[in-house]
Parts: sequence; structure tokens; C-alpha cells
Amino acid sequence: MARVIDIDHCTCELKEQITHLLPDANLDLCLTCGTCTGGCPASEQYDMDPRRFLRMVVLGMDDEVRNSPWAWVCTMCARCKHACPMDIDIPKLIYNVRASVPREERPKGIRGSCDQHIKAGNAMGVPRDDFIFTVEDVAEEIRENQPDFKDLKVSVDRKGTAMVLNQNSREPVTEPDELGPLWKILHLVDADWTYPSVMWAGENYCMFLADDEGWRYILEEFVHHVDVNLKSPLVVNTE
Ligand code: SF4
Ligand code: SF4
Repeated sequence: MARVIDIDHCTCELKEQITHLLPDANLDLCLTCGTCTGGCPASEQYDMDPRRFLRMVVLGMDDEVRNSPWAWVCTMCARCKHACPMDIDIPKLIYNVRASVPREERPKGIRGSCDQHIKAGNAMGVPRDDFIFTVEDVAEEIRENQPDFKDLKVSVDRKGTAMVLNQNSREPVTEPDELGPLWKILHLVDADWTYPSVMWAGENYCMFLADDEGWRYILEEFVHHVDVNLKSPLVVNTE
């Protein structure tokens, strides 16, 4: 049976809570035009899309919204916000829906990756020395086997470089050969760069988990290392 929603008597707790956190959110301005949905990579996953999700929040369907796995599928890419004629910030809405779920009830996989990043400096839990060893080993192999790149320079924690690059931690673990192509491009354009040894991973699952504290901790450690220890003026996030 279709559910009847009495919008005049809606408590709309989630909407009130989010509007309080995001006074500029303007959720009521939605025209239901669907432009957000047209460009959303998560549309139709779990039979949901950003327009429908927003309507459910506005209509006070709080339990359905909180229990929808779709809230965790959104990539936070913000295409919807850029396309929206009313400038409604759907990723921030989704972020706050995630944050309204108790941390221990958020998806285990994302939570584990966030915890691992806080503990080990990357979501895969790679020890610092293993990362450095892999980088040096792959670089040496390229120098030995590819004459065009016999002078390839790859470093970790070299001070005063023009830029610091971070790296998805999955690559050194599961696809170390995939590190090479970017290094070669940087070599050919004579880029002055290094990896950091602290918080070197480019991913940040704490952001996807809506864990403000964890997200902030990772970024602060990273920025401190780049700014104070390496004294580099630029960060390039390869994620
Ligand atoms: S693009 Fe904006 S106005 Fe149109 S449906 Fe999406 S949120 Fe509503
Ligand atoms: S931020 Fe989320 S809802 Fe918006 S387009 Fe990207 S995936 Fe879709």
C-alpha cells in the first residue's frame, strides 16, 4: 500500500537538524527538475537518486533516509551541486545524513579504512618502511630495464621540492607497477617532486565516513609534515 505523508504535520527532524547545521542549504527551494540526477554517477543505485533522496528528507521520511544504503554510495563528487539551478548542496546534505548515524553503525568497510588511515597513515595499513622500500624497488627496476629512464628520480621526504605528491595506498600494495607511468611523466617534464612519508596516502575514507575528527587529524598531520618538515609550497593529490 502506498504510504501517505502528511506534510503539514511533518516533524521533519532530520531536515530541521540539517538546516540548523547548514543554514544556506535551502532544501525547500528544490524545483524537482532532476538536473542533479542526470549527471550523478550514483543515480539508480539502490533505486535512489539525489532528487529522490532530497525529496525524502524534505518530506520527513527520516528513517527511510537514514536506513538507505544509498547515502553511502554517493561519491561526494559535487556534480549535482554544480548543476543545480538552485545551488542546493546535496553532498553536504548527504554528509550530514551520514554524520547523523552513530559511528559504530556506519559501514564497516569505510570505518575500517578510516581507522587504519588514522593508525597507519594510509587506508591499507602499509608500514612506512614498506612504502619506501616499494617505491625504491620499483624505481630501481625501471632504471635498470628501461634505458630511456635510467636517470629516473623518485624520492620520499626530499626537502624543499617544488611539490609533494600523495598516492592511493592501494597501488604500492596491489599494483606497484602502476606507480611507474606517473613517475615517467614527471621525469619527462623535469618536475621537482617527492612523496611524504607521513600520511602519504591520497585517499581519505574518514571524509566518506563523515568522521570530522579523523578527517581533520589526517589532514593536519599531512599538512604539518609538508609545511614544517619538507617545506614544500605545493601539494598534488593524485586521487
Ligand atoms: S537540480 Fe536542484 S532543483 Fe533540480 S531536482 Fe536537483 S536539487 Fe532539486
Ligand atoms: S555528490 Fe553524490 S549525489 Fe551528487 S552527483 Fe556526486 S555522487 Fe551524485
